Amino acid sequence: APGLYLVATPIGNLEDITLRALRVLKSADRIACEDTRQTQKLLNYYGITTSTVSLHEHNETERTVELVELLKSGGRIAVVSDAGMPGISDPGTHLTQAAIDAGVAVYPVPGANAALNALVASGLDTQRFLFEGFLPAKMNARQQRLQALRASLTEPLTLVLYEAPHRVLETLADVAAVWGGACRVVLARELTKLHEEFLRGSVDEVLTQLKERDRVRGEMVLLVEAQPADKDAATAEIPLMERIAALEKS
Ligand code: SAM
Repeated sequence: APGLYLVATPIGNLEDITLRALRVLKSADRIACEDTRQTQKLLNYYGITTSTVSLHEHNETERTVELVELLKSGGRIAVVSDAGMPGISDPGTHLTQAAIDAGVAVYPVPGANAALNALVASGLDTQRFLFEGFLPAKMNARQQRLQALRASLTEPLTLVLYEAPHRVLETLADVAAVWGGACRVVLARELTKLHEEFLRGSVDEVLTQLKERDRVRGEMVLLVEAQPADKDAATAEIPLMERIAALEKS
């Protein structure tokens, strides 16, 4: 059927793509890619010859106009990012919104995603989690973001973060500053690849393990067992009846 297809692609292992995703890529009129060269490797591997066009953060606005025209005339466009689900810390959202506004059908085509795969294998709570993607790169902004997150929590949950290898030590130190060195974390590295690895333990333990290495490499997801701010300090913990009584007096 005509429409916009958001197609998940592998996050490392080329076999992690569904039969339906391959069929959609093969039969699309065009594949909009974050990086056409990166996607071409996948297409070559599966012998797919559909034409590609780039769609990244620098051209998303102009490219969207052109692609929406094609969609409105009954075209089928597949959107892919370099890895995983398009639109998740990746381009795709702008075009999706424009397609919806133009009354065009949007179809998700499921598949790999780093956050969810890290979460399910982490051993941390999967019932409640908060996906934050990349934290700010600058230390002050990052610490403020973590403090604000902690202050906003009313119950424990698993915080899911994307992180770059050259920043992970700093981010772990920030997590320790906000939640304490005993806070449980899991670092999921190189998911689905040859050197897939899970480092599990307290922030202090994981920091010690990483500091023993020459260099921290690879792609990684950081999961944090995030606890709400200290209960005694929070006004929210004043029993409801007392709060109502205080309101009535004032
Ligand atoms: N759209 C992607 C998804 O659905 O997971 C995420 C794209 S984001 C630009 C890239 C980040 O995802 C990396 O910096 C890393 O934090 C995480 N990531 C991607 N592939 C990974 C892998 N194989 N193992 C661990 N983390 C990965």
